[in-house]
Amino acid sequence: MQEAVRYIEETYKKIKKRDPEQVEFLQAVKEFLCSIEPVLTAHPEFIQQNILERMIEPERIIQFRVPWMTDQGEIKVNRGFRVQFNSAIGPYKGGLRFHPSVNQSIIKFLGFEQVFKNSLTGLPIGGGKGGSDFDPKGKTNNEVMRFCQSFMTELQQHIGPDFDVPAGDIGVGAREIGYLYGQYKRLNGFEAGVLTGKPVFLGGSLGRTEATGYGVVYFTDEMLKDMGQSFKGKKVVVSGSGNVAIYAIQKVHELGGTVIACSDSNGYIWDPNGINYSTIKQIKEVERKRISEYIHHHPKAYYYEGSIWDIEKNYQVALPCATQNEIDGMKAKKMIRNGVIAVAEGANMPSDLDAIEVYQDAKIPYAPGKAANAGGVAVSALEMSQNSQRLSWTFDEVDEKLKNIMKSIYIEVRDTAEMYHTPGNFVAGANIAGFMHIAESMISQGLV
Ligand code: NDP
Repeated sequence: MQEAVRYIEETYKKIKKRDPEQVEFLQAVKEFLCSIEPVLTAHPEFIQQNILERMIEPERIIQFRVPWMTDQGEIKVNRGFRVQFNSAIGPYKGGLRFHPSVNQSIIKFLGFEQVFKNSLTGLPIGGGKGGSDFDPKGKTNNEVMRFCQSFMTELQQHIGPDFDVPAGDIGVGAREIGYLYGQYKRLNGFEAGVLTGKPVFLGGSLGRTEATGYGVVYFTDEMLKDMGQSFKGKKVVVSGSGNVAIYAIQKVHELGGTVIACSDSNGYIWDPNGINYSTIKQIKEVERKRISEYIHHHPKAYYYEGSIWDIEKNYQVALPCATQNEIDGMKAKKMIRNGVIAVAEGANMPSDLDAIEVYQDAKIPYAPGKAANAGGVAVSALEMSQNSQRLSWTFDEVDEKLKNIMKSIYIEVRDTAEMYHTPGNFVAGANIAGFMHIAESMISQGLV
């Protein structure tokens, strides 16, 4: 058997034996390993340096108790996590997720993806991720504040503007970042650069809220251009209705497409006239209600319970922007029957391994999250730069930089796929390009 293939298989076996129950993490590792053989064959020194095992094992995992009190005086205990995955190219950087499904496997998969994503931005940021199994849904502002204060009381010992800089993710938006930042400041004094995604009046960057959603659309637009296409006149389905989905919907409409459906964890809306972005923003961001409310504002729209990917309408572009593993092989086949010609992920790992195989067999251009949703972390890094310089750039300046970053990620991913004889395979392109940056940087620093 070829040396590189044997090395990949042995590494995966070792990782699986170590953490057999961490299914999401193992899935992310497998997706990565599946593309890496050509680069290991071309660079046997990486095998000699055992670079895969060094890259797949996080530098550090912190797990902690988060006690907090409800408005009724009841004491609750949640679990907090921070995985500091890889600092080869800069301080750990990656969001915090508050969702009942959070466990070590999910945080490790997100941290692992984050390492490659961050390196693709071309900015000096390492990868990390954190969160808690706390569910902000249905909690009062005071309960969320008490939880965030307790969470940060522990986390603050492990982060810092030049060491580890968290941001938001599922369940962590401007409200949570504000409370987390307030507690950090109370304990450590003013250090704006310790968190990104802050409200603008606390040192946040203009354009950060929109960045992941806009970024995925900019990336898709580049992909469509290479196909001789554009968003003009295209029907688009966007899953989710949170931070990423809302701004993806807005940008698709600006570029001439029509988003016909979006969702939350209970069901989805189909609006043949196009989803009204302002209504979704009002329902989800301001009122924090369920998406089913939408039909009260737009009586010609329909609400269905269940997965948005079971929709049977004609559309051309799919932008999954909700959560991991929302699309399996069956749903991917349905998508293609519906007329989809391109898929780009705003969420992290929304397509499982079977779904990816379906896209690739059907030769549908498919952009994995680690490339297509890098806009959020890229603008977070721009927020860090502004905080260090005590400067604030305009929305248009940030948006222009975001557009350029997404374009250069697309070009690097596309060209790397071609260089390694897998043209059009953006999974391979993203994994190999990200891997090369990290591997070279790790090796240049010796065995650390
Ligand atoms: P939000 O919490 O703002 O929104 C998440 C959305 O996904 C909500 O509409 C939520 O519905 C829905 N959702 C959550 N879980 C499920 C589920 N199990 N099934 C169906 N729908 C679900 O999070 P974000 O928009 O910030 O994040 C969305 C995705 O994008 C995540 O995968 C995240 O890791 C990724 N991402 C986010 C970035 C950012 O900058 N925010 C950056 C890069 C990636 P409900 O309201 O019912 O819970």
